[in-house]
Amino acid sequence: MPDWNIMLSKVAFIGTGGTIASLGKDQFDLLDYNASNQRVDAASLIEHARIQGKIAEIIPINFREIDSTALTNEDWAELAEVCFGLMEDPDLAGIVIGHGTASLEETAWVLSLVLKAKKPVILTGSMRPLTGISTDAHANLAAAVRVASTSSITGVLVVVNDEIHSPRLVTKTHTLRVGAFQSPWAGPVGYVDGPFVRMSKSDNAPQSVFPHLLLRSLPRVDITYSHIGADGTAARAFAAAGAKGIVSAGFGPGMGTPAETAALRDLIEAGLVVVQSSRTGSGLIVDSAQHRQLGIIAGGDIGPEKARILLALCLARGDSRDDIERLFLSL
Ligand code: ASP
Repeated sequence: MPDWNIMLSKVAFIGTGGTIASLGKDQFDLLDYNASNQRVDAASLIEHARIQGKIAEIIPINFREIDSTALTNEDWAELAEVCFGLMEDPDLAGIVIGHGTASLEETAWVLSLVLKAKKPVILTGSMRPLTGISTDAHANLAAAVRVASTSSITGVLVVVNDEIHSPRLVTKTHTLRVGAFQSPWAGPVGYVDGPFVRMSKSDNAPQSVFPHLLLRSLPRVDITYSHIGADGTAARAFAAAGAKGIVSAGFGPGMGTPAETAALRDLIEAGLVVVQSSRTGSGLIVDSAQHRQLGIIAGGDIGPEKARILLALCLARGDSRDDIERLFLSL
């Protein structure tokens, strides 16, 4: 039993599922554990990691036990509502969210855009299942709880593999390695070394720009992926399916093939909003003369998945194309 007489901070742990909550068939099942489709809830995960009462008093909140590829806009809306509710509790130092790594960066980004987080809201996951040999689930959960108990930290952050990342640039860069989460070319904004939590840079994610209720009415926005031979069929099909916006994950400098560009120009004329991003995984799309002539909005350093979320939130709010451009250029 933990010794509650030691004054520990209180941290809520919201379980959503993912590999961090997954049970494999045995300790060597590091790759195929999704086949068993068995995940534990928040309370069992804390019990498994044996950290209750050691770093903080952890309040488990069972939310979902799903693979993060199955999350929906409604799940995001509900998760934001749960976070808002918890942030009202004056006794709570912070919130940790256990999440699948597949879409962790998207949820971190969306929460950073809608939460007025005056406390730390820390997303974590693991690359190896809870039951796997040398699992990173326990260590990542413990590090996330440490960051969430740190009073000088506020806002949405990602903690994986002893690193603290900003939701703006963090991305999963490897399918398997425990060091998969990186902020390419920018690096982490802080570290967790044993009990020491240290921020090395300030977080540059825009925090709480949108009302969270917009998550319940996001319009369709799709991503097209450029490659030699891409002919714009994807963009036209997305528009036909009802997309109000398109994010182009273009070639490195931020452009598609001539045929894709022609398709995007037609769609802009038809009233869609198009944001140019890049398939390279890092770097800046600058507001070039070519983009301006076409009416394409330069996505800056926001990657395609995150540009898609930002564009959808802007459209849900009723922003004009020019408002959206101003927002992207100001980030
Ligand atoms: N399948 C997992 C997910 O829920 C992947 C992971 O968590 O590593 O995203």
